Amino acid sequence: MAEVLVLAEHTGGDVKKVTLELLTLARKFGEPAAVWAGAGSADGQARLAEYGADRVYVADGSDFTDYAVAPEAELLAQLVADTSPAAVLLASTGQNKEVAARLAVKTRSGMIADAVGLTAGDGGKIVAEQSIFGGATIVHSAVRTGTPVITVRPNSVAPELAAAAAALSTVDLTVSGAAKGARVTEKVVQERGERPELAEAAIVVSGGRGVGSADGFELIEKLADSLGAAVGASRAVTDAGWYPHKFQVGQTGMTVSPQLYMAIGISGAIQHRAGMQTSKTILAVNKDPEAPIFELADFGVVGDLFQVVPQLLGDIQKRSG
Ligand SMILES: Cc1cc2nc3c(=O)[nH]c(=O)nc-3n(C[C@H](O)[C@H](O)[C@H](O)COP(=O)(O)OP(=O)(O)OC[C@H]3O[C@@H](n4cnc5c(N)ncnc54)[C@H](O)[C@@H]3O)c2cc1C
Repeated sequence: MAEVLVLAEHTGGDVKKVTLELLTLARKFGEPAAVWAGAGSADGQARLAEYGADRVYVADGSDFTDYAVAPEAELLAQLVADTSPAAVLLASTGQNKEVAARLAVKTRSGMIADAVGLTAGDGGKIVAEQSIFGGATIVHSAVRTGTPVITVRPNSVAPELAAAAAALSTVDLTVSGAAKGARVTEKVVQERGERPELAEAAIVVSGGRGVGSADGFELIEKLADSLGAAVGASRAVTDAGWYPHKFQVGQTGMTVSPQLYMAIGISGAIQHRAGMQTSKTILAVNKDPEAPIFELADFGVVGDLFQVVPQLLGDIQKRSG
């Protein structure tokens, strides 16, 4: 059976959850093999083994930290040439979409971006599901030429344990001069609190204009913390300066696809939906029974959020003892 290459997302030895999701998806189509660019593979190996990586291709060295995008594309292109994989999967980040595009050109392959699901189609082809036009249309597509290069959004699938060897294989690669055209001059580590990252969180609690003020938004944070969730916001909130822009969910903000999305005091405008409607379960709290968010919600509570959310918090606290 051919391998399916998964470009590992990691910070040093820490493997990001999306990589475990991609390994889970990869198992459907071949033998999952992680590709580790940069340092820290020995620390990440155990985690990759737990989630089914049969092999880990390692290309260590400063080229992957000193230069952006192009070295990773060269690494993957070499592995595609050497191993003829069934597909290459990458997490849908801005950087990886550029890696994927370069890889597709180098290997004369088709590329699909922002898949939210992968299934086996006729003749074993990998069929990718994409949610487009602000989520109004679902597209199914398959690569017809070369090796399918597919970027998949975080939270498209729940990661599943499957023990494997994760045998380390060193890749002998000399990164070309052309791939060193843009040097990384500085890296700024984003300040992070205790909460999970918005793009990767299994639960997202988002607040809208209904919270009324920046102070009102504390209730959203409280609810998020009680569930170990990330906090999101509508554009009305970020434009008003009640919460930072980096937490905006929607067409001009982040796209999230958590297991549970809670929309509190959010009307459900099409531009907001574009960033959250592939969430697995959607719960809405809104005092207007006609609010468009209820067309989308799996569970809806019609009521004042300042009454509903404290009750919810009380119940969550009771349950967690
Ligand atoms: C080009 C473009 C791009 C955009 N991109 C984005 C984007 O990325 N993300 C985004 O979110 N928006 C985006 N927007 C804006 C979008 O159109 C909406 O204006 C925005 O989503 C509205 O935010 P909201 O739902 O919080 O506010 P509102 O539409 O004002 O809704 C507030 C809701 O709260 C409810 N409410 C009020 N008080 C309470 C209460 N006490 N208890 C319970 N419910 C209450 C109301 O019934 C109402 O439904 C974009 C717009 C454009 C034109």
